[in-house]
Amino acid sequence: MYNDKTLVCKECGEEFIFSAGEQEFYAEKGFQNEPTRCKACRGKRDHSAKKELYDAVCAECGQPTRVPFKPHLDKPVFCSKCYSSKKI
Ligand SMILES: [Zn+2]
Ligand SMILES: [Zn+2]
Repeated sequence: MYNDKTLVCKECGEEFIFSAGEQEFYAEKGFQNEPTRCKACRGKRDHSAKKELYDAVCAECGQPTRVPFKPHLDKPVFCSKCYSSKKI
């Protein structure tokens, strides 16, 4: 059986309830981790970006940029401007 749990949102710092029903749902789906964000923050994310973005520095112009993959040292990362000018 599950009991409602109070967790603290990693994004906004507010406490939120990880309800018994949700815990059951998570267990059913086989999710190993508890949610780290409250419903409001999770909702926000769903609409903005599904993918996690990583901070990187463009190898061409040196401008900070964000990429949807973890940058590797052996692979140069380009900002969208440089990337499109390279026509890869
Ligand atoms: Zn939150
Ligand atoms: Zn660039």
